[in-house]
Amino acid sequence: MLSVRARGRRTGSAAVLSSLGTSASLVASGASPAAAPLAAALAAYSLADLATGVYHWLVDNYGDASTPVWGPQIAAFQGHHRYPSTITARDPCNNLHALARAAALALVPVDAAISATAGGGGAAAAHAFAGTFAACVVLSQQFHAWAHEKRRRLPPGVEALQGAGVLVSRAQHAAHHRVPYDSNYCIVSGMWNGVLDRYRVFQALETVVYLRTGVRPRSWDETDASWMEEESSAPDGPDDEEATAGVR
Ligand SMILES: [Zn+2]
Ligand SMILES: [Zn+2]
Repeated sequence: MLSVRARGRRTGSAAVLSSLGTSASLVASGASPAAAPLAAALAAYSLADLATGVYHWLVDNYGDASTPVWGPQIAAFQGHHRYPSTITARDPCNNLHALARAAALALVPVDAAISATAGGGGAAAAHAFAGTFAACVVLSQQFHAWAHEKRRRLPPGVEALQGAGVLVSRAQHAAHHRVPYDSNYCIVSGMWNGVLDRYRVFQALETVVYLRTGVRPRSWDETDASWMEEESSAPDGPDDEEATAGVR
């Protein structure tokens, strides 16, 4: 009998494959050229990185474990800052099941709406966008785990993908865990981190939130214990200076 976590991951995988399969079958049937869904998938991959950054910024900075609906996620992200390397010890099923279940819940009605309202190339592109976006968001926690992993323990090819900027790099994510704890929130490819941090987009949003509500983000207080690491990031040897340099 499958565990709740395995069921969540399997349901999410089925929903993603259904979206992508519908798109592929529209291309195979000649109802759509391949270019439209390919372009949509690339756009979804890019925007999923931005979406993970916005979500990560929100749960890192606002609310707490008692916040309705998002409380467990906020507590998990705060816990990650205190014990960052534990993410590499969890199996992927444990890391991904909650996001996979949420993706399945969102994708089923989205796919039904696309099928009911769009046809041909538009439908193929929309299904490809929805399936790729959901897949990238679900897998972002695995990409995040690999950003904390030691180089020698990475699966074959992952280090090359990190180096090429296809997946968020270990060096870039290590900067997120350094003072002042207010950068590099995106965890799919990290392609949006440069522009978001250069133009201080999140800091501008934090100022707007503060002026309108009086609520301060956690990143304004560098001494907030919730940001501090409480364990070594290199439990079995300092072989990964690039990724762990300066990590607290
Ligand atoms: Zn964080
Ligand atoms: Zn992290």
